[in-house]
Amino acid sequence: MKNYSLKTVLFILSILLAAIISASLVIYMQSAFGQIKWKLVAVVFLSSFVTSLLLLAFINVLIFSKLNLLLNTVKNYRTQSDKALVPVSHKGNELNNLNCEILAWADDRKNEIERLKKLEVYRKEFLGNVSHELKTPIFNIQGYVLTLLDGGLEDENINRDYLMRAERSIDRMITIIDDLEAISQLETGELQIESERFDIAAMAKDVCEAQEMKATGKGIILSLPEDGKQVFVFADRFRVRQVLTNLIVNSIKYGKEYGETRVRFYDAGDNISIEIADNGLGIAKEHLPRLFERFYRVDKSRSREMGGTGLGLAIVKHILEAHGQNINVMSTEGVGTVFSFTLKKA
Ligand code: ADP
Repeated sequence: MKNYSLKTVLFILSILLAAIISASLVIYMQSAFGQIKWKLVAVVFLSSFVTSLLLLAFINVLIFSKLNLLLNTVKNYRTQSDKALVPVSHKGNELNNLNCEILAWADDRKNEIERLKKLEVYRKEFLGNVSHELKTPIFNIQGYVLTLLDGGLEDENINRDYLMRAERSIDRMITIIDDLEAISQLETGELQIESERFDIAAMAKDVCEAQEMKATGKGIILSLPEDGKQVFVFADRFRVRQVLTNLIVNSIKYGKEYGETRVRFYDAGDNISIEIADNGLGIAKEHLPRLFERFYRVDKSRSREMGGTGLGLAIVKHILEAHGQNINVMSTEGVGTVFSFTLKKA
């Protein structure tokens, strides 16, 4: 049906009513008197038209004042929600506007429910993962402490060793808690990015030097561009160091013995592209889409063995997204992995 304005509908209805009354009068006069007094018909038509118009206008005011109230309530409610109001508003067609607003409102609610459902699933998964991650070191500590209390404390052969093992489990818990804290800060937007100009080539050199021990332990060579050129970017120095450390440490953890990790920088228009490539284990194709999810690991036992929390790449992704940048991964199982991300050139 066409979207007639309310005034048009009232006008048409009044004419219809007046026409019906006049037609009835014409039929009555014809059958009762055998003739029609057209002047009388015209007067009756006009007066019934005016009366109907006034009556319908009065009913309209009564009904539509209530509808307008409803429309304004829905509108106000939607203004407070995060979505914009319905862009089309037909002046004088309150019913249509109300319909649009209610449909949009229902749409908002549907999206909101979907979002809350997803959040609920995520919350359950997250809690399950966290408790699972913390359980292992806690049970380990409990085991060592109980053994020590059961007489192990006096046994020179194990007391020191068990205390050191308990300490390692505590370290693991601290790493998990630190990563959880970082991820929750990044996800709640609490963490502010404080960008500045710095030389990322110098930073990469620094990170490689800090991880030198780990790398040489596996005979891995950490290679940087030979020209030693400065590469300036505009980003959060502390957070970018976290990203580089994470990716370089991963390349060592999942790299093959006597392998190589190469860090390279490329000009990418307004950005600098940073690439960290290794010739290690590689990642099977089916894992790649989920690699940046929290707690996602390709090989769970290997990751834990290496002291991984499964949160590293999720943190890396969050940090880069907070910079308005993103990260990519290319990998072939048994050949190696390349992580590349961009940062604003400075
Ligand atoms: P983790 O703490 O387990 O290292 P990350 O989030 O850093 O967690 O990485 C997630 C998973 O991605 C790892 O468990 C590992 O299976 C895989 N991964 C990350 N980097 C590499 C890499 N350079 N080579 C092969 N696999 C990798």
